[in-house]
Amino acid sequence: MKRYNETLYDAWGQSFAMDEILFEAHTDHQHLVIFKNAMWGRVMALDGIIQTTEGDEFIYHESLTHVPLFAHGNARKVLIIGGGDGGMLREVCKHQNVEEVVMVEIDEAVVDMSRTHLPNHNAGAFDDPRFRLEINDGAKFVRETNETFDVIISDSTDPIGPGEVLFTQDFYGACKKALNPGGVLVTQNGVPFAQPEELTNTYRRQQAHFQDHTFYSAAVPTYVGGVMAFAWATDDEALRKLDLETLKQRYQASGIATRYYTPEVHQGAFALPGFVANLLK
Ligand code: SAM
Repeated sequence: MKRYNETLYDAWGQSFAMDEILFEAHTDHQHLVIFKNAMWGRVMALDGIIQTTEGDEFIYHESLTHVPLFAHGNARKVLIIGGGDGGMLREVCKHQNVEEVVMVEIDEAVVDMSRTHLPNHNAGAFDDPRFRLEINDGAKFVRETNETFDVIISDSTDPIGPGEVLFTQDFYGACKKALNPGGVLVTQNGVPFAQPEELTNTYRRQQAHFQDHTFYSAAVPTYVGGVMAFAWATDDEALRKLDLETLKQRYQASGIATRYYTPEVHQGAFALPGFVANLLK
């Protein structure tokens, strides 16, 4: 049987049996493959790196969506950068107070192929009337836009290839300008045990633009190497320090069903393991 061997790290990796290849091509931006695996369901990889699996995507997507949206409490306009598989969009669209969701994805083929081959990821969200798709480089979009957002979610690839610009100080500065007062930027920021520089670089680069910036975390099994870090950046420190009762009220009032997110997990996610906290000193 054919196997998919991830190439994220030179010295170590994970390997998946490819039970059936649903799509494989070099797009204008990257190598894209979507295949079936008996343990993880449908799996998407870009340029040799696993991006998402049906088995564990809920942990990642719920963490990057519901933590900022419930902390904000009244997000009406949300920007997703990347996110072509539609999983983030699906979770954002569960929030009834959201009136508009813009997704800026560089690679139209990822959106098209996810719509066809990863239907559980988007679950119809691409057809939500509140959704607008922009095919563009996310860094260019935020630099040039006059629109402003309550929450910006960067659901990017790693800082290699097209995703590299989404980890720069300029990008974080442009996001700051595109946020409404009290807005929050969250970004996928790799696995600190295996990618410590990704964490320290982001921390330093966000410091220039945000008064309250830190990370929260979740363990996503196919992003191997322990907990994954999500950067949290805002000027409103109170959002991160919301009390549990308020989070519980917002969660219950929303009626949103989640498999990973709970108000308790939300609060606990900001308690960083010692070695991660030490990287920020
Ligand atoms: N969850 C995954 C992870 O952490 O590995 C990433 C998800 S995947 C949907 C990331 C998406 O970001 C890809 O579809 C890719 O095409 C898109 N992307 C990469 N660089 C981009 C850029 N500069 N602007 C917009 N989208 C970008």
